[in-house]
Amino acid sequence: MNLVRFVFATLALTSFLAAQTGPYDLVLRNGRIVDGAGSGWYRADVAVRGDTIVRIAPTISEPAKQIIDVAGRVIAPGFIDIHSHARRGIFEVPTADNYIRQGVTTLIEGPDGDSPVPLAPFLAKLEGLPKSINIGTFIGQGSVRAAVIGNVNRRPTSEEIGKMKTLVEQGMKDGALGLSSGLFYVPGTFTPTEEVIELAKVAARFGGIYISHMRDEAGGVVESVKETIAIGEQGGLPTQVTHHKIIGSANWGQSAATLRLIDEARARGIDATIDQYPYTASSTSIQAGLLPAWALEGTRDDLRKRLSDPATRSKIKSESIRALQFERGGGDPKNVVIARCDWDSELAGKSLADVARQRRNLEPTVENAAETAIWIAEQGGCSGIFHAIGEQDVERILRHPATMIGSDGEIPIFGKNAPHPRSYGTFARVLAVYVRERKTLTLEDAVRKMTSFPAQRLGLLDRGLLRPGMKADIVVFDPERVRDAATFENPHQYAEGFSHVIVNGQVVFEGQAMTAARPGKVLYRQRGI
Ligand SMILES: [Zn+2]
Repeated sequence: MNLVRFVFATLALTSFLAAQTGPYDLVLRNGRIVDGAGSGWYRADVAVRGDTIVRIAPTISEPAKQIIDVAGRVIAPGFIDIHSHARRGIFEVPTADNYIRQGVTTLIEGPDGDSPVPLAPFLAKLEGLPKSINIGTFIGQGSVRAAVIGNVNRRPTSEEIGKMKTLVEQGMKDGALGLSSGLFYVPGTFTPTEEVIELAKVAARFGGIYISHMRDEAGGVVESVKETIAIGEQGGLPTQVTHHKIIGSANWGQSAATLRLIDEARARGIDATIDQYPYTASSTSIQAGLLPAWALEGTRDDLRKRLSDPATRSKIKSESIRALQFERGGGDPKNVVIARCDWDSELAGKSLADVARQRRNLEPTVENAAETAIWIAEQGGCSGIFHAIGEQDVERILRHPATMIGSDGEIPIFGKNAPHPRSYGTFARVLAVYVRERKTLTLEDAVRKMTSFPAQRLGLLDRGLLRPGMKADIVVFDPERVRDAATFENPHQYAEGFSHVIVNGQVVFEGQAMTAARPGKVLYRQRGI
């Protein structure tokens, strides 16, 4: 008995010592460690074995298969993007270069109420895909509603609500990290608050969060934040205002009120948080951005039918004029730019003013821009970029302690279309513009907002911090050189200043190039039943 005990003790000690002393698979030497917790940086080396960080110490001199001298650069946890549309592109570009090259090692899919339903086949396909990046997903309320009753504006029966709950439950069992909604979009916009709460309660049982593209980010933004808080409070789960922004110059400054609501909610014990991308333009489809939601109910044929009725058409047009003047349109057709048009790829990069003039032979007035937006919707729609956000609100929201970073981007095919630069630049831009140039945030706090904060939010308990035992998702960058190169005029430019990106212990980006490693994993909910 004693001998057995001795052998076990020796084995345990040996493996403990082995973890401490190597040989290691990878050692990063001479780093400034920004550990993700928000504490000040310190100097150390980091050792990795397999997919795990096994040691952090002032000097690690034991042998390793690979040693990288980072020469005083920052070593931080890989960034976690809590709001991405990675489904747009992950199967075409499984290396996700635009994200990896700005330090993102985990993408969370299924935001804005939009996810595959059911999730299982999608997750199985992702499992089978060799990829450079980790990926997890939410289950989308809008998609669940569409699957049960379609894109229609009506209340569900209690039987239909039961079906929706079952689909959310299935999504959570399949590994979703929570429930997302897009109450601005069709069909989310047709959903009464109580119905969202019913579904949120299901996600709550599984330890999931609720994350929402709110009903209104313009004139009704304060009411929408109240609704988001109420859903968290009555649904019994953490709640998050996603890509928080204030749209339309008439509404600029409202972030003071919305942040006060978040503070008050937190003070009374409601777990409400925010994520944000650091740009003064948003991106969504031209039709969702500029046409009223009621016009988009049903199919494209339904829309065409509505537009063929002169009275309905003029009602749609007057609401579109209002959106152009006071909301996403930013008061000038030049502030709306086409990002991508599948039926006419040449429209990408042109403003609504250009399209009115060149394609419709119209003077670029607001009224004619509304006419052009309707024409675009009739053709099948395009995605657009909308310059209608104030810098003061961006900075105020970013500075808030409950705000984390999320790109709301996608995985573009390099050089194709004119996507929002957030897909290439979000995380690098925060580090360059808001840490180095404007000093809105400290480096440590910015990294916290990209790492441990979203990891804690999502229950990804083994990522987001540089500590022994955590998964080895690691980025190395030069804080003096890091920058976003992507602009609205020239979006297809990778971020700069990152020298190494490591996913699950394997180097996926080094120097200027992606490596052949494909260590990305599908991440599933870890907490709850
Ligand atoms: Zn959104």
